[in-house]
Amino acid sequence: MNKRWIVAASVLLTLVAAAFFQYFTGPKTPEIETENSEELAVEEVSQDVFLYGINVTDLNIVEGTVSKNQTLASILAPFNVPYQIIDEIAKKSKEVFDVRGIATNKKFTVLTPSDSAQAQFFIYEPNPAEYVVFNLDSLNIYKAEKPVEYIQREVSGIIESNLSSDMGKQNISYDIVDQFADLYGWSVDFGALQKGDKFKVVFEEKMIDGNVIGAGDIKLAYFEHRGEPFHAIPFVQNGEMNFFDQEGNSLKKAFLRDPVKYTRISSRYNLRRFHPVQKRYKAHLGTDYAAAKGTEIRSVGDGVVTDARYTSANGNYVKIKHNGTYTTQYLHMSKIASGLKPGQSVKQGQVIGYVGSTGLATGPHLCFRFWKHGKQVDWLREKIPPSEPILAANRAAFDSKKYESLQVLANINYPGEAKKLLADKEVNPNAATIKAKVD
Ligand SMILES: [Zn+2]
Repeated sequence: MNKRWIVAASVLLTLVAAAFFQYFTGPKTPEIETENSEELAVEEVSQDVFLYGINVTDLNIVEGTVSKNQTLASILAPFNVPYQIIDEIAKKSKEVFDVRGIATNKKFTVLTPSDSAQAQFFIYEPNPAEYVVFNLDSLNIYKAEKPVEYIQREVSGIIESNLSSDMGKQNISYDIVDQFADLYGWSVDFGALQKGDKFKVVFEEKMIDGNVIGAGDIKLAYFEHRGEPFHAIPFVQNGEMNFFDQEGNSLKKAFLRDPVKYTRISSRYNLRRFHPVQKRYKAHLGTDYAAAKGTEIRSVGDGVVTDARYTSANGNYVKIKHNGTYTTQYLHMSKIASGLKPGQSVKQGQVIGYVGSTGLATGPHLCFRFWKHGKQVDWLREKIPPSEPILAANRAAFDSKKYESLQVLANINYPGEAKKLLADKEVNPNAATIKAKVD
């Protein structure tokens, strides 16, 4: 069965490849010919066809997927590769890619010179982003990454239930939903959205071989909450890209709104709280975020780690000094991020550990503590300084970026609007026809 399939596939692919090469190397039309030899040389170079970085112009291409229980030897059996070469390749490849790891349903390609029956290259794709090239002549083996392409998407929607499910309906990945929530963390409470709130977002997606393999960055965004507009206009100031509202105020603050994503606050800063473990009244100087064990904990701001250790009360905890005024502390972690050590610099949003219940805790949660001038204060009541607004010197450049951005946003229709416009177009020609008849 397999052999028959491979033969059928190779015949078909040879025909396709032949047609392809005919198209690219076919006789030149007289117009292309020119006396300038340099131009001719360029013309010839551009006719070469490359696959996996290999010039395959004179090679036959057979593509397939690994069948159950197939090995390097059985895949290459129909391609007249001597057993010694397969054996040597198997031994030599261990450092780059162990051929015993060749797995069912993975894609492979065999390249054979058109004037030979013996394959010259075997290429295996362990995942959609990488490939391993086995040169069966030189016995050179190397791994490479496929080129990543970024495509831009513009999506809009109207909130029916919540941000992540309504964005999910439009095929927007969680990664972009997170970026969106962080972008508006200080201006919109996404836990209190209203039906009819609206969003527009322009973002990039990572593509390999025409398949989306991940999210890129948000490029522009708009949110409308209870009829109030919130623009997120990108602008580079002091060498750093940030988002600003229409007035030129930065959406970013020194700190992220939430040290954990997808969470709820289970206990606030309270100077007289009944302690659930110690069974007595005691000040609770932190803000508790309930979250599943293992949820990522992020540093709310740029800073330097001062503590990353275990104590019996705090459990595994990390403390980060952000500047001369502010320090933050993250308690009860199941695990501190591997390698995190005092003295190390961290960036805003960097994962520093995982939610747990080590130390004095009843269940998994993050106890987040916010220190100002060496004293613990109520994080939820603290006025966090915004990042620098658009500087006077940049105002004109920002205004032009703003008008360009507003135009892009205006050209994105909401799902209902698009239908309405279509309906109007359908109605109008009819109206014109009737009018014409009356005339
Ligand atoms: Zn707490």
